Amino acid sequence: MSETTEFEPVIGLEIHVQLKTVTKMFCGCELSFGDPPNTHVCPTCLGLPGALPVVNARAIDYAIRIGLALGSEIAPRSIFHRKNYFYPDSPKAYQISQYDVPLCTGGSLGGVRIHRVHVEEDAAKLTHIGESGRIHGSDRSVVDFNRCGTPLVEIVTEPDIRSAAQAHEFLTLLRVTLRQLGVSDVNMDEGSLRADANVSIRRAGSHALGTKTELKNMNSFRFLRRGVEAEIERQAALVQAGEPVVQETLHFDPASSSLTSLRSKEEAHDYRYFPEPDLVPLLATPEMIAAASAAIPELPAARAQRFESELGLAAERARLLAFRGELADYYEAALAAAPAGEAGAGPVELANWIPQLVERIGPDTDPATTRVSPAALAALAAMVSARTVSRDAAREVLTLLVAEGGSPAELVAREGLGALSDEDGDGLTALVDAALAADPDAAAKVAAGNMKAIAPLVGHVMRETRGRADGGEVTRLIRERLAGR
Ligand SMILES: [Zn+2]
Repeated sequence: MSETTEFEPVIGLEIHVQLKTVTKMFCGCELSFGDPPNTHVCPTCLGLPGALPVVNARAIDYAIRIGLALGSEIAPRSIFHRKNYFYPDSPKAYQISQYDVPLCTGGSLGGVRIHRVHVEEDAAKLTHIGESGRIHGSDRSVVDFNRCGTPLVEIVTEPDIRSAAQAHEFLTLLRVTLRQLGVSDVNMDEGSLRADANVSIRRAGSHALGTKTELKNMNSFRFLRRGVEAEIERQAALVQAGEPVVQETLHFDPASSSLTSLRSKEEAHDYRYFPEPDLVPLLATPEMIAAASAAIPELPAARAQRFESELGLAAERARLLAFRGELADYYEAALAAAPAGEAGAGPVELANWIPQLVERIGPDTDPATTRVSPAALAALAAMVSARTVSRDAAREVLTLLVAEGGSPAELVAREGLGALSDEDGDGLTALVDAALAADPDAAAKVAAGNMKAIAPLVGHVMRETRGRADGGEVTRLIRERLAGR
């Protein structure tokens, strides 16, 4: 990346979101993925002469929800346009989309400004089949019109993104926000979330925009990130060699990490946009906006903010939980199940146990589906806070809980993992004395006030007790025993 540091990447994203409606955007055909090809079609979505489109009210409701969640302004009156092009995936030879008056304008998400959000219809699915089964070098293509006319929302950001990593972060937040809204499956593998990236570079410190290229159809966040990184490097190499960046549409091949040109970039006027004569203007009434607004749940960014301000979590921990809704749900269930008042672990301590749990169940598992109940995790955290079990021993208990479920108190009793304290008799004091005797050099240093020397002494006791002693209690005892010297 060294050659790119003198350049600043400027990245904007265009994200297509398939809406999870029952029927298509302009006809009554059912949306049904995985059914045999061309079984959900009608004269309207096949573009037969005389068939007329009717707007899907649910799709508009979902689009308004997205606009409101992004802080966009909802246009009281917007219109549909025809975007004309010929391709076998578009039987009408145009796509109904929105052009100069979109449904939603402006807004922001995670510090990235939103340019616009508009409604349109998806094209059919083309599959290229070659003798070898390869996509390239194919000798025939087949079309499945089941997807044709699926409601889409296109979200266009301003060019506010400055790195491939930031693009990845933005998409992650957008996906979890859309999922929370309940408007889409947001599954990149199945194509219900697709992202294109506009990439240009400029000399660091410059405010002018360079020529941009468009990276098309990245079907995973990881590929998008790698594709953008490769394109930044490619443009930097061109500029350094004194060659121009050509405005074009590119395809990133993740297997070879190579970028190939699909076509020189078309201009908006090439599509001969004109107002759709078969549809009246779309009027978003105050009642429609109020209904969409009422359907919006607490969104991840707001939830992270609440975890921070009301529960005192660190910003990073709050985002880690809130940006994965199932972790936040589990955490809140554990909070609700926690012993009240002094007996509970407190929200910050309890939150510390979620990553411990994720480490044991794997990053893609919803903790609610595991054997560890939220109440059990809350009880374990409370035992650590009350020092009836040491932190090390509690980690062991958590591993047992993941494997077999049950109650942490019973597991602690069964495995003999309860914390040792001086109340158990002279056990812990005797172990501390043994540690001091075993390392008189460290003991002398601690006695002289050098507290850095205490670590090996505490470590000695921990080893002897297999982690069952409470570190704080051991430290206190060491100081107490040395105070008289
Ligand atoms: Zn249809």
